[in-house]
Amino acid sequence: MTESNDREALRAREQGVAETYERAMAVGLELDMTRGKPSPKQLDLANDILALPGITEYRDSEGADCRNYGGLDGLPRMRRLFGEILGCPAENVIIGGNSSLTIMHDTIVRAFLWGVPGGKAPWGKQGNVKFLCPVPGYDRHFAVTQHVGIDMLNVGMTDAGPDMDQVEALAKDPLVKGIWCVPKYSNPTGVTYSDEVVERLAKMEAATDFRIMWDNAYAEHHLSDDHDRLANMFDACRKAGNEDRLLMFASSSKMSFAGAGVAAMAASMTNVRDTKKHLSMQTIGPDKVNQLRHLKFFGDIHGLRAHMSRQAEIIRPKFELVQNVLGRELGGKGIASWSNPKGGYFIDLNVPDGCAKDVVALAAEAGVKLTKAGATFPQGQDPRDRNIRLAPTLPSLDEIKDAMKVLAICVELSSVRKQLAG
Ligand code: PLP
Repeated sequence: MTESNDREALRAREQGVAETYERAMAVGLELDMTRGKPSPKQLDLANDILALPGITEYRDSEGADCRNYGGLDGLPRMRRLFGEILGCPAENVIIGGNSSLTIMHDTIVRAFLWGVPGGKAPWGKQGNVKFLCPVPGYDRHFAVTQHVGIDMLNVGMTDAGPDMDQVEALAKDPLVKGIWCVPKYSNPTGVTYSDEVVERLAKMEAATDFRIMWDNAYAEHHLSDDHDRLANMFDACRKAGNEDRLLMFASSSKMSFAGAGVAAMAASMTNVRDTKKHLSMQTIGPDKVNQLRHLKFFGDIHGLRAHMSRQAEIIRPKFELVQNVLGRELGGKGIASWSNPKGGYFIDLNVPDGCAKDVVALAAEAGVKLTKAGATFPQGQDPRDRNIRLAPTLPSLDEIKDAMKVLAICVELSSVRKQLAG
């Protein structure tokens, strides 16, 4: 086929897809797939919490009166529960308020103002300090570091976690103070870090005040019984003699109620003592009544896992539907690739370079709101403009089907136009 025949074929293709797009616009959809929120059905599963702990049930199993001040690090059974989620002893856990993001934000701010154990000075007094940001990643992590004024260095994500050759090379710089990690069912790639990545992060050369921000937000969020397995980072860091470099975080936001759950951090005893010293200036103690109602609801780690299996029954068909529609509409066309995670909240879509913003804009015009293109990168800048995060949990199955069909049309339209322009 000659070059002009090729262009003719492309133009005809563009016209055909544009007509399909016009028809999709005419339907007048109003769908929102922007954020990874639980659906009402998932939330309903935890409604018993609304009636707990009960009007006479204000003591925990150790007899503490949860209505009163006290217990800076949380109820012992809640510390044990988060220790089991995060893979460490209860004594290494501090229970916070309702949000792990708040704890992460405060941790970074404290390190910036006062430094961390092992550091010679506060991060903020050491010059232009930097953070490693595996990309694509969680937008709110990047927002915290940007807000505090910490420079961000992009590190590529592989199928096994962050590109460790890059991480090890960059972490040698003493001004690099940490790395953001979502180690299991990563937001948004769905990747679970391999044993090798865990070990290299634990062992690598880095500043004594370098911190791994190990945000294990999706530790218990499997889509089925076929789980990914994550190596124990707490043990790996201890074995490597680097136990102070690890700070772990989790919450029940996507187990019980989003924004009304219980959050926790866990770390070495040196870090726990340092954190508590600062925390005691910030609060007299966390909300123990909320911890108590969650303990009564979940019981223990087995109860929590049974609850998460019930959630998976609701979420899994939505993920499968996204896979089916994308596979049918875009499979084999060489214009898109997407993740097929075993857990978490997201499917990660890559479209041809230079098309992500266009696809998101086209979808918005057709009534399908997607996460802003670039949101998964520091400063909102995706250097290849190709990554789009899909959040299938909140919409209904019918809405997902409509939204994915529209998305597929937008990907085709944008890529054919890009080819014509190129
Ligand atoms: N960490 C990650 C990786 C998330 O995806 C989210 C929410 O989407 C959070 C933290 C927020 O957690 P929390 O509600 O405990 O602040």
